[in-house]
Amino acid sequence: MFPEPNHNDLIIPFQLEQSGLRGRFVRLGATLDEILGKHQYPQPVARLVAEAATLACVLGSMLKEDGIFSLQAKGDGPVGMLVADYTSDGSLRAYASFNKDVVATVPDSFAELLGTGYLAFTIDRGEGFERYQGIVEVDGASLTAAAQHYFLQSEQIHTELKFFAAPHAHSFHTAALCIQAMPHDADAGDHDLDRLPPGWDEASALLATLSAAEALDAALHPHEVLFRLFHEGGVRAYDTVHVMHRCRCGLGRAERALSALSEAEAEELADAGRIEVRCEFCNSTYTFTLQELSDLRAKDAGAG
Ligand SMILES: [Zn+2]
Repeated sequence: MFPEPNHNDLIIPFQLEQSGLRGRFVRLGATLDEILGKHQYPQPVARLVAEAATLACVLGSMLKEDGIFSLQAKGDGPVGMLVADYTSDGSLRAYASFNKDVVATVPDSFAELLGTGYLAFTIDRGEGFERYQGIVEVDGASLTAAAQHYFLQSEQIHTELKFFAAPHAHSFHTAALCIQAMPHDADAGDHDLDRLPPGWDEASALLATLSAAEALDAALHPHEVLFRLFHEGGVRAYDTVHVMHRCRCGLGRAERALSALSEAEAEELADAGRIEVRCEFCNSTYTFTLQELSDLRAKDAGAG
């Protein structure tokens, strides 16, 4: 017996040959098991985190330059904050903060989970580059719909996104397919957003035929999914990006955060002579004694 093929945790960039439209196919499995397994989310919250993480892979992998793409949603609902970070090497992390008391009684609807708020996209290309941020109001349909709306309204890029999720033990497995027109040349002047890019209607109609079963079937190679949908006009797949859960927290970051505290502040925060820093993404904890913090401060003062 051979094990079932497992085509999960990957991003396939592709281009439709005839129309030149570009796209991404994303499917996530074990990566989400790991991300969601670090927390005990109620099911609707877990699904929302899974959706945010999947969208971060789709949109982050469309960037031309390397960097960190962050998707952040903030609202007045029981899920106060939702964050997913995708780094161009395929690293993914995500979490949601939520009010346990309220969320237990909230139906499984995006509008009620997040409430009224906004969705922000941040691109951080590292030191020496300006941080980019785009914001769109969350109007209650879904996270995917809000992201799609953002690209059309703020970036003036026709974008069509389809998202699928299925429960898997205490986690969710997901897939997403996106097609997007090439960004317009800013120097080319005004263009009419109502005028659809060539081939858009056809591609969009084909995208609509994708079923959840096909999109989520880990035994089905993503190239096969793309071929079934788009073979008529031709589709070219580019190098696969493998996605994995990898957090950017670490001892060094915790040290830097804490060494900024004054002695009095550190004493105030300490419990039995220790301060614990917990990473909201991966739940790792870093513990320092007051003596260690005082040594850190002395080292900082010496270096500065
Ligand atoms: Zn972490």
